[in-house]
Amino acid sequence: MHELSLCDDLLSQVVAIALQHQAQSVESITINIGALSGIEPSLVDTAFSLLKAGTVAELAELIIHNTPVIVSCPHCNTQSEVAANRLLCPECQSTDTTLISGDEMILASVALCIE
Ligand SMILES: [Zn+2]
Repeated sequence: MHELSLCDDLLSQVVAIALQHQAQSVESITINIGALSGIEPSLVDTAFSLLKAGTVAELAELIIHNTPVIVSCPHCNTQSEVAANRLLCPECQSTDTTLISGDEMILASVALCIE
């Protein structure tokens, strides 16, 4: 399962951040999942529940934000939010767009419990 290895990576980042701040536990973890990432949020949720057991993030709540697909157009110099299945520039209909965000899963923030 793709989601399992991604979550494993994310959890390593969270554990490293918690260690760095000498946190007692992790309260919540916020991640951004792009509409084009092909990642299924419910699988991420399941994978996290499995992986966090026994770690400093064991009691952490997982918050998932779905991030929009944003493309940049070199012709009219705009950035626009577009549908995941239609990466055209809405201004000039160019297909020559560059994906700015929407295909990633990233750690957005971590709330730590520090004594
Ligand atoms: Zn354009």
